[in-house]
Amino acid sequence: MFNKILIANRGEIAIRVMRACKELGVKSVAVYSDADSNSLFAKYANEAYNIGNPSPSQSYLNIEKIIDVAEKSGAEAIHPGYGFLAENPKLGFECEKHGIKLIGPKGNIIESMGSKIESKKLMEKAGVPVVPGTAKGITDIDEAVDIAESIGYPVIVKASAGGGGIGMRTVYEEDELVRAIESTQSVAASAFGDSTIYIEKYIEEPRHIEFQILADEHGNTIHAADRECSIQRRHQKLIEEAPSPIMTEELREEMGSAAVRAASSIGYTNAGTVEFLYSNGEFYFLEMNTRIQVEHPITEIITGIDLVKEQLKIASGEELCCRQEDITVRGHAIECRINAEDPMNDFAPNPGKITGYRSPGGIGVRVDSGVYMNYTIPSFYDSMISKLIVYGMTRDECIARMRRALNEYIILGVKTTVPFHKSMMLSESFIKAKLHTHFVDEYRDEIM
Ligand code: ADP
Repeated sequence: MFNKILIANRGEIAIRVMRACKELGVKSVAVYSDADSNSLFAKYANEAYNIGNPSPSQSYLNIEKIIDVAEKSGAEAIHPGYGFLAENPKLGFECEKHGIKLIGPKGNIIESMGSKIESKKLMEKAGVPVVPGTAKGITDIDEAVDIAESIGYPVIVKASAGGGGIGMRTVYEEDELVRAIESTQSVAASAFGDSTIYIEKYIEEPRHIEFQILADEHGNTIHAADRECSIQRRHQKLIEEAPSPIMTEELREEMGSAAVRAASSIGYTNAGTVEFLYSNGEFYFLEMNTRIQVEHPITEIITGIDLVKEQLKIASGEELCCRQEDITVRGHAIECRINAEDPMNDFAPNPGKITGYRSPGGIGVRVDSGVYMNYTIPSFYDSMISKLIVYGMTRDECIARMRRALNEYIILGVKTTVPFHKSMMLSESFIKAKLHTHFVDEYRDEIM
């Protein structure tokens, strides 16, 4: 095991990683921007280094500064968390150059999975079902029209380098295609520096179901079951649950082995997630996330595996904790993302000072957070305050417990998604698990 690692991230995920370090006897090094000198993670670490200006490009995205701190502090490895540099292959390559271990897959794997086109191609080759469409970049409008025609409308125009729900446009008829292509190309160019786009079938009212992968450096790859992440706004997740309410032993076997095949066919190592869209009994590979996910705790709760500790163990060369047959699913877990956002104003960010704070507790309740009373949420980064995660023996118990925990949660000074989650937990359709990715829009009147 490592003696010391650097966490190239902030907020709740930085603390989550440091907690794993403490339990493993590993020293943690934080890097923080000027906007985070009062943040909890910077105080929680064994050592903390200021890396300057709040703007992400000058701090949390600045590979040179981060590698420099790793070398100065004697950290042997870097954990990138999620967001920021977590899926930037350059961090992997730079780490390799400097003899620092990246706690994640190799740079070239991050690179190929970062391209939606390339990853679709690799998955097709491995025999994993993909969303119908062409796995190639589109440059010619006439060609695009032909492709959309052959797939059949509606189609979705997507940025190959896309992420975070950005760079996607649904097209219902030919007239809209040209404009959708141009706008997606320009969004992609400015957000990702790569204007490559492609077209695939738009699956109507799908469920988003994903599988947690663990793979060691000795050729062992397993999945740690499934999560359902259909409750989204603007293609971003708000509520996740594990297992998926529609999961059966047979379906888990089928989708889980496709996910394992997806990962092992590319020589994937460390923790990762294979995302699928599911509709009418069919499932399609969507993308692979080459990092720890925001929603990893719900998997930890139903399987008992500490995924972050597993990441550290795998990166230090250990074999996987368990074989596929050792993974069992127990009970149900739900995560609500508590964001400083105004749900009544289209989830607009609402950063500011938290003037009152008390988090819920009691049986089956876990709160992963990076905030405290009188903390000011900086406006430079994402607006997540915390993740409220609850366990129940059954889905119904889990929902009742989430309702109780949300009612206990006191956050004053900023608008949050708590009221939205409260009404979701009372929604008849949510309780009946009639989930799909447009749930929030469809039931807006019922839940807002
Ligand atoms: P990102 O990398 O930006 O998160 P994803 O490819 O993972 O993008 O897609 C995010 C969400 O967008 C999915 O969960 C789903 O709601 C929607 N989506 C993406 N592709 C399709 C598709 N072909 N059909 C229907 N919905 C889609």
